Amino acid sequence: MNDNNNTQDILQRFIFDGTDIRGEIVTLSSSYQALLALQDYPPQVARLFGEFLVAASLLGSSLKHRGMITVQARGNGPLSMIMTECTQGKNVRGIVRGDFDNLDGLSSLHDLLGSATLAITLEPEGKERYQGVVPLDEDNLSKCLEFYFYQSEQLPTRIQLAADATSASGMLIQQLPSSGDKEKSEEDWQLVSSLFETLSSDEQLQLSHNDQLYRLFHEQELRLFEAEPMLFSCSCSRQRTENALISLGREEVVNIAEEQGLVMITCQFCAQEYRFTKRNIDQLFDPPAPLLH
Ligand SMILES: [Zn+2]
Repeated sequence: MNDNNNTQDILQRFIFDGTDIRGEIVTLSSSYQALLALQDYPPQVARLFGEFLVAASLLGSSLKHRGMITVQARGNGPLSMIMTECTQGKNVRGIVRGDFDNLDGLSSLHDLLGSATLAITLEPEGKERYQGVVPLDEDNLSKCLEFYFYQSEQLPTRIQLAADATSASGMLIQQLPSSGDKEKSEEDWQLVSSLFETLSSDEQLQLSHNDQLYRLFHEQELRLFEAEPMLFSCSCSRQRTENALISLGREEVVNIAEEQGLVMITCQFCAQEYRFTKRNIDQLFDPPAPLLH
């Protein structure tokens, strides 16, 4: 039964009362569809992209201050790059690059990306960025992310990701440093993780958040926090595009403008077009002196 949580785009945190375990559950539906509508990804690429979007959403929810988290894979397979981002304000965007023409029969992480690495980059606004890199050599993205948490934060973490043509969903549980009895903490973790492991992709894509959590943890005391909306939103702007043109240098930009009559920049994430006429370009590099009177 679907009580329609899955047609929304929401992230919810949860905790298990009396334990050191926290969790998150997220579903992306219209934001995922809006991103897919801009690209022409084959089904298996769309599914993997959905998993990456959900991964960025789950990791991004730990951002306490303004900033962004990026989950990026680079490989030598038919897909050369998958990149997804999530801001502290729960805006997601992303892109896949590669050769989509000859993917028949290829569907696994390794089939699509070949030998690859996964980089997780945290960029808190005004603070130093942090990047963790792990090999993308497990069977699926969930397992690679679990290894990332193990390596970077030394926190036991379980992750399950799922995506189909219309929605993408993910759940994460994490054992926080023990606040008391270490043995009990370990027992709690073993029990909750063994229940977590029984979650299927179909359940993730078809059941509401409440129903998924009830199915797995109805014998635990679980506290589910209010839903936080997720949104596909691009951070591109005319101002940022102007800055990019300025950093390219006057000569190069003027050459393009003269060859093509105008400079057109299309945002790779949202397909927004920014057009600059020769006159716009001149003004960009020679802004008029401010009006004194
Ligand atoms: Zn954009």
